[in-house]
Amino acid sequence: MTRLTWGSATDIGMVRESNQDSLLVASPLFAVADGMGGHQGGEVASATALEILGASFEGATTVDDLMEAVRRANAKVWDKAQLDEDLRGMGTTLTAIAKVKFGEGDEETFAIVNVGDSRTYQLRDDEFSQLTTDHSFVEEMIRAGEISPEEAETHPKRNIVTRALGVEPTVDADVITVDPRPGDRLLLCSDGLTREVGDDQIAAVLRRLRSPDEAAHELVAMAKANGGHDNITIVIVDVEEGKDAIVPAPAAEKKDDKKKDRARGRHVKQPRTLTFRMVLFILALILLIGAVPASVVWYARSVFYVGVEGQSLVIYRGRPQPVMFFKPTITERTNVTVNDVLPSAIPPLQQGVTRSSLKDAHHYIENLTSQADAAAQAAAPAPPPTTQVPTTTRGTRNAR
Ligand code: MN
Repeated sequence: MTRLTWGSATDIGMVRESNQDSLLVASPLFAVADGMGGHQGGEVASATALEILGASFEGATTVDDLMEAVRRANAKVWDKAQLDEDLRGMGTTLTAIAKVKFGEGDEETFAIVNVGDSRTYQLRDDEFSQLTTDHSFVEEMIRAGEISPEEAETHPKRNIVTRALGVEPTVDADVITVDPRPGDRLLLCSDGLTREVGDDQIAAVLRRLRSPDEAAHELVAMAKANGGHDNITIVIVDVEEGKDAIVPAPAAEKKDDKKKDRARGRHVKQPRTLTFRMVLFILALILLIGAVPASVVWYARSVFYVGVEGQSLVIYRGRPQPVMFFKPTITERTNVTVNDVLPSAIPPLQQGVTRSSLKDAHHYIENLTSQADAAAQAAAPAPPPTTQVPTTTRGTRNAR
């Protein structure tokens, strides 16, 4: 088993107005991307690619997982470019390494993915070698024997990449595997380093500075000192004896969420039995459950109405139209009959005349009888003037 330590640095350089490089450090996954495309395109492409790569690979354990993450990153950059006029044509290089499971047992390997002309190097046993192959115009000419590596360094088309991520719906990415050996040092970098600093000088820094972070910053400083014509981005990963704090889940097992979390070295969150917020929520729910019927009862029972039962006027508590299952109840049977009120008052009484209180219901009945009395007096002019019949004589009694 091996464990990984790492360091990184990125810099705009001495000439460029923006840094279109991006880097990803999400052990066991590391990546450098060098974006290209006008306006904001380059920045968006490299940042998007690494964002999706990282998110897609989270909890993953195999080479296939890494390749799937690369496909998703490509698709996202492509989709974004299609949706936005300003981003059309954007793309990015990608060099990425991930320590993944290999075979059935505990074996592990580095999967190294490359598209474009960013590079991954390895320093092993003092030997410095480039693990990736550039996808560039000059690289193809070198391989075809048309120019020498030295000529390539000054070739006018040395900036042209022949493959990039996000410029087509699908991507053709190289992938190789390298066994991790304690003492190995891996370097991922954008061309802003390799155009300014020769391989021998890079190797010398990697040998001299033990701290990966220090080495990364030293390499950036050297590239800038040599002109810094491009953005410079460095990730250095050291392989050490031991075991990662982050233990990848067994590749053969199905990846459920818990295993994913374990793979990332996170604690699986246990559902807590009863939190303060849950208690508050339950209390609120109980109140709500109680409040609904309570308010219905209040609504149904908060008023009185005067109606007719047989010949008598009756005061009910409730509403003439029953609310849900709350039927009105008789509060008082009065000794006032339909004969004591004007005929015109009877139809509303049969419907039920609602009043907001028992007192108002009494007043209503008193008014009805007063009106009837007044009408009777008007019809029979003979009787001597008399005081109004006190309503108390028509008093009511409780119905119980
Ligand atoms: Mn570049």
